[in-house]
Amino acid sequence: MRPHRGPQQATSADAGDSSLSRVTGSSIKWPPDDDVIAVQRGPEPGGWGGAWRAFASTFRGLANTMARLRQGPVTIQYPEEKTAVYPRFRGRHKLHVFEDSGLEKCVGCSLCAAACPAKCIRVVAAENTPENQVSAGERYAATYEINMSRCIFCGYCEIACPFDAITMGNDYELADYERSDLIFTKEMLLADSIERAPLKREGE
Ligand code: SF4
Ligand code: SF4
Repeated sequence: MRPHRGPQQATSADAGDSSLSRVTGSSIKWPPDDDVIAVQRGPEPGGWGGAWRAFASTFRGLANTMARLRQGPVTIQYPEEKTAVYPRFRGRHKLHVFEDSGLEKCVGCSLCAAACPAKCIRVVAAENTPENQVSAGERYAATYEINMSRCIFCGYCEIACPFDAITMGNDYELADYERSDLIFTKEMLLADSIERAPLKREGE
């Protein structure tokens, strides 16, 4: 039995386009042979099926809105009152040091910079010396900068780092007046971040 034809397929056939390849540039044969299974994607337009297809999502959204109406308006008095974020929210970055030795975890390998899709990390590495041991590895990041105006907070940098030297916190208040102030230096990233954003509790 020839399978049911969907609306788009019927349109192509009705238009007399026996060679769909002329339009698509592909080698699709139309009408298809009997061994081709056409996938039926939904009810045909018209009738109750079509009406459900067209309005079901709208009705579900309206029902959600009506249910929320009973709660009344929700006003957050920002900046005195802050929106709580989820524990895995990705905000301002932080560079870490070893608690016991105080040495920096970053070894200047630039893997984070390579993984960054926005190309907003700049790392310049330098060699550790016995007189100047900055990190636990052979090298350290003499310069480490993140241009926050370009960062898209994807988290690839913290995933790419093999030493957990850089992580992302919860602080989202990063606006400033000058673009140059949005280039976070190594000293800024090493400093304890100000965790101003409250966290949502479990199940909240
Ligand atoms: S969060 Fe993404 S865009 Fe921002 S610095 Fe890290 S890798 Fe780059
Ligand atoms: S933060 Fe991690 S990935 Fe980036 S340069 Fe330092 S050690 Fe390498």
